Amino acid sequence: MAYHLARIRRREHLGHAEQLQVQARLLRALVRHAYENVPYYRRLLDPALVERLRSARDLAGMPVLDRMDLHEAAAGGELLATAFTSENTRAGTTSGSSGIPITIRNSERDLGYLRASYLQDMLANGLRPTDRIAYFRVNPFLRHPLERLGVLRNFHVPTGQSLDEQVAAFLAARPTFLIGFPNVIRSVVDELQRRGIEYPSVRTVLFGGERLTPTARAHILDYFRATHREVYASVEVFTIARTCPEGKMHLRSADVVVEVEHDDGTVSVEDGEGEILVTRLHSEAMPLIRYRLGDRVRIGPNDCSCGVARTPIVREVIGRSEDRIAGADGRRFYGDFITFPVQSFPEVNRMQVIQHRPGTLEIRVVLVHGARPDVTADIRDAVLRRVPDQEVTVLQVPQIAPEPNGKIKIVKVLDPSRDPAPTEEGKAADV
Ligand SMILES: [Zn+2]
Repeated sequence: MAYHLARIRRREHLGHAEQLQVQARLLRALVRHAYENVPYYRRLLDPALVERLRSARDLAGMPVLDRMDLHEAAAGGELLATAFTSENTRAGTTSGSSGIPITIRNSERDLGYLRASYLQDMLANGLRPTDRIAYFRVNPFLRHPLERLGVLRNFHVPTGQSLDEQVAAFLAARPTFLIGFPNVIRSVVDELQRRGIEYPSVRTVLFGGERLTPTARAHILDYFRATHREVYASVEVFTIARTCPEGKMHLRSADVVVEVEHDDGTVSVEDGEGEILVTRLHSEAMPLIRYRLGDRVRIGPNDCSCGVARTPIVREVIGRSEDRIAGADGRRFYGDFITFPVQSFPEVNRMQVIQHRPGTLEIRVVLVHGARPDVTADIRDAVLRRVPDQEVTVLQVPQIAPEPNGKIKIVKVLDPSRDPAPTEEGKAADV
């Protein structure tokens, strides 16, 4: 663990070019390992391409691993490397917003690396040894080895349980450092406020997993008088990017290869807008090469003045690629841009765009206390200016229900008959 951590920290301090050299070396080893030891890749990879691979740019000729491929290959055991079994690996599962359940298996060494990279996420975000960390999660987090030494005390706020139980867990933990999805932290904050409890002890809130409206984020941070940090991470690939002191999300180039697949089908490494493809470089038990995570991202060169991180910057995680809404004419488009006029109203605490059938949009909003009554009409007008051909209704609701995985889908398409598997459809649309 300590060894992994020292190595991660050393690499993160390197310049971008040096990180890319580390990346290329690890990538060559990973692809060779996958080709030699993993049945799925033995079957699919072109040996000439494996031989020729020098850097991430050379991945472009290799197959992309879609969520459905992963689901099927993992179920058949075809993605596990030789010598790894369900006995000597541990499973992590996620269902994501696409609803396709997947299971990732990690070896003890993979997990050691995972823990070290999460610890580095916190250290880079100002964690101190005396901090008490509250994880807002459905399941308990793996116990941290350093906990036994009396540092890094971890507490679990069980977000699958009732709000009262969550608040009780929070208060019992007396945390100073919070980690979790914004919406679940928000619910606890609301309840603490409702009870008239002041809690000024939180120094840092580390958000991950979903976007939050600026008003809601400010609300959480104001309540705790805390600083805000963010990670872009997933069960499948650990941490892809992390905020620096300037608030920019820098890629972790020495650990994860990030490719961007543009709408015209071309691919670039660490640059541009499109679907993100990720290759996690430290994964011996179940290597995933060019895994389609399901997010759209916009990545640009590093123009940050922080001096701490020197890698390109994730400007925006534009939303799950399957969240495409349909116009009245049946054409599909990414609905994320509709969220911006809505969340620019300071009265909006939380929001969700729901499409029940093509050509209609239901905007659900949770408004701040005492919001003016005509704000919903103004929101409707603002949305209609962006999408004049949609039938728009704005509903004020008491809360937005999260998905079973705890995340809130900001743009949600409910009509399954018009919403086939996103990746297949995406491919068809590109042709
Ligand atoms: Zn920076």
